[in-house]
Amino acid sequence: MSVLQTLRAGLADKSITASALLDAALARVTEATPLNALITESFVQARAAATSIDAGAHASGALAGLPMAHKDVFCTNGVRTTSGSKMLGNFVPPYSATIVQRLEQAGAISLGKTNMDEFAMGSSTEHSAFGACLNPWGSATNKRVPGGSSGGSAALVAARALPFTTASDTGGSIRQPAAFCGVTGIKPSYGRVSRYGMIAYASSLDQAGVIAESAADCALVLQQMAGFDALDSTSVDVEVPDYLAAINAGPGKLRIGVPRLDPRMDQVGGVQAGVLAAINQSLKLLEAQGHTLVDIDLKFSDVAVAAYYVIAPCEASSNLSRFDGVRYGHRAENCKTLVELYERSRSEGFGAEVQRRILIGSYALSAGYFDAYYLRAQKVRRLIANAYAEAFTQVDVIATPTAPTVAFGIGSTLQDPLAQYLADVFTVGVNLAGLPAISVPCGLSDDLPVGLQLITPGFTEAKLLALAHQYQQHSDFHRLLPPGYSAFPTTAKALLS
Ligand code: GLN
Repeated sequence: MSVLQTLRAGLADKSITASALLDAALARVTEATPLNALITESFVQARAAATSIDAGAHASGALAGLPMAHKDVFCTNGVRTTSGSKMLGNFVPPYSATIVQRLEQAGAISLGKTNMDEFAMGSSTEHSAFGACLNPWGSATNKRVPGGSSGGSAALVAARALPFTTASDTGGSIRQPAAFCGVTGIKPSYGRVSRYGMIAYASSLDQAGVIAESAADCALVLQQMAGFDALDSTSVDVEVPDYLAAINAGPGKLRIGVPRLDPRMDQVGGVQAGVLAAINQSLKLLEAQGHTLVDIDLKFSDVAVAAYYVIAPCEASSNLSRFDGVRYGHRAENCKTLVELYERSRSEGFGAEVQRRILIGSYALSAGYFDAYYLRAQKVRRLIANAYAEAFTQVDVIATPTAPTVAFGIGSTLQDPLAQYLADVFTVGVNLAGLPAISVPCGLSDDLPVGLQLITPGFTEAKLLALAHQYQQHSDFHRLLPPGYSAFPTTAKALLS
């Protein structure tokens, strides 16, 4: 049984209580403080929630009494929500995001907000106004990034401080940190999960999802998050299948497309040999389950990064224009004119990476360059979506590495933003095409985790989860613990020790 399934059984037969479980989670989260993964605590609210659940509240909730944390991109009623930015450093939302509400209704207990790259822009969680987050893999002499932008959410699950966290993915921000931290992360299809109350980065790409130890646990949580929401105009009104039933039924025999690696991959320094070895080994494992590997040519994958890094900054520059120091957010002091108020509030409130994105986006959207950059990137986006659609006429699933490398060293890419952008080569195409994808741990390279990315057609999360679950029943990579860490306690005895 998975971590969440075991905890649910213990809570149901009352061998453990929500309060005892929360105490254990709080102790483990506190122990993980050096990782700088949690930037806002809501321990008091969490204790009150645990007490009321032990008294019978949310008794039928699928996640009743399970501790977790939200990425700080989701608005939480009464709990500070910053999106990792000084701009929203003291913003306390008067409402909760739809997914926050849904998980609360299911009885999940949030004990705080996780660290992230500012406004979800980045792949390392170093671009946070609250300081860099650390990967529990790595050591004092070999500090590694947890990936990003959902680095805090991935690090807490990897440290086994919490059994699951929420996260968001615009170009890889659930999958890449899951890969770097050796945990499982699913990015659902665009429109599957409501974006209402999720602070926007690039609205046509953003999706909320979940990070947990296993695909089975992702399935359990996604079940509660997914589904139509009238408050999000891009939410899609299609039925949400029973994910647990789907993973128990198994994926059937699938054709798994393996894209030939473009020789131009060399522009990103290529895929590390250790990463390739782990991926190849995992493909063999899938083949041994009766699936067929098919060599495919995924056209335009070499230009996905270029298209993404035009479209995402364009949307970001528009979305972030609301932060002007007037209505809410950081406001510069002692300004003499309105223009000075705008300029200084935004210069003081936004960090370097966010300013860089706003500049790129404003430039690409400006009158003289719109056709050359934005329009062109949109055309490329269509070609990429078509290329996936064409590939899915031949295969059921596409498998790639989640990232070309294992977790990089803290500070190693800060001077070279382009290098960090290029490392998103395997993840951004999925967002441009609106597809679901999952990253599952598939081995170690240089003692650091490697992630296998599986991609399926839109709204087939059930198939994706079923395949990932089958893989995890025949491998133990998702149970590997970072050196010095122990498994999340799931029994009454373990909770007490
Ligand atoms: N690394 C990508 C970026 O910086 C993706 C981030 C994300 O998915 N939020 O835009």
